[in-house]
Amino acid sequence: YAKSYSRTNVVYYNKDVEHKVIEHKEFCQKFKNAIDKNEFYVLYQPKVYTKNNTLYGAEALVRWNNDGKVIYPGDFVEIFEKEHLISALDFYVLEQTCRDLRSWLDNGLEPVTVSVNFSNDHLGDDELVDRIIAIVDKYGIDHHLIEIEMTETVDVYEINRLLTYVNGLHKNGFTVAIDDFGIGYSSLLMLQNISVDVLKIDKAFIAELTGDAEKRENIILRHIINMAEELGVEIVAEGVETDEQRINLTDMHCHRIQGYFYDKPLFTDAFRLRLSAKTY
Ligand code: C2E
Ligand code: MG
Ligand code: MG
Ligand code: MG
Repeated sequence: YAKSYSRTNVVYYNKDVEHKVIEHKEFCQKFKNAIDKNEFYVLYQPKVYTKNNTLYGAEALVRWNNDGKVIYPGDFVEIFEKEHLISALDFYVLEQTCRDLRSWLDNGLEPVTVSVNFSNDHLGDDELVDRIIAIVDKYGIDHHLIEIEMTETVDVYEINRLLTYVNGLHKNGFTVAIDDFGIGYSSLLMLQNISVDVLKIDKAFIAELTGDAEKRENIILRHIINMAEELGVEIVAEGVETDEQRINLTDMHCHRIQGYFYDKPLFTDAFRLRLSAKTY
């Protein structure tokens, strides 16, 4: 690979890498400061049961307020994973979620299950389940109100770890969702081995959704939904933006939806209002 480059190019390439490493280190230091300075905050995106247009759950999604500039997870989660900083962030988000759930409960609201994203970087952590329990119990939150979202993985070792976690989480009353389902390399193999509670169909499948039942995309989506139904797994469609998509999903018997069509991720106060109204 390097041989195809001229000598000057190689030198430039190296300088570039060096520069990136420095940027990286600064970035990680910034992260550590940001946690201390409370620069991360959590938004809640409603999940809606379309049969009665009722809010039945939410997903916690992190944002970074860096000197007034909002940074989205798409711009830092991957780097945090590489640097093994993501675990601290995920626990931070879980704790904030529990704190908010506690306040909704204390204010007489009937809370819904909130899902929290947990990176596959946690898969090496033997204490994961115990650490989750410790945080959730600290706020006196019923375990069934917390859902853990994890993504598919290719690695056989990781699939086994995931299996152990899912069992541990189930034993303790938590629910588990597979996030971004369908775009991984081993979606079906994972499903064969691990009995999760929820599949979140990746928005890539929803974006292509039209009324044409014979279209390849629709055939695949319809069968994913049917398969989930037969397996007794709840299915949630992510990234639903239009009424047409909602109607097509309903025709395919997918009745749980998360997407801009209903709501964007909301600040705590706006979500609290949604929670008390419940229906759309
Ligand atoms: P995700 O877990 O698949 O979350 C759904 C993403 O889709 C969110 O992006 C959400 O804002 C976006 N979304 C929701 N409805 C729509 C829609 O109708 N159309 C479109 N185009 N997008 C929609 P967000 O908040 O930017 O998060 C991106 C990803 O970052 C998440 O994808 C998740 O993998 C990761 N992430 C977010 N928060 C956390 C966290 O606390 N921990 C970890 N490990 N990852 C997180
Ligand atoms: Mg998610
Ligand atoms: Mg995710
Ligand atoms: Mg997703």
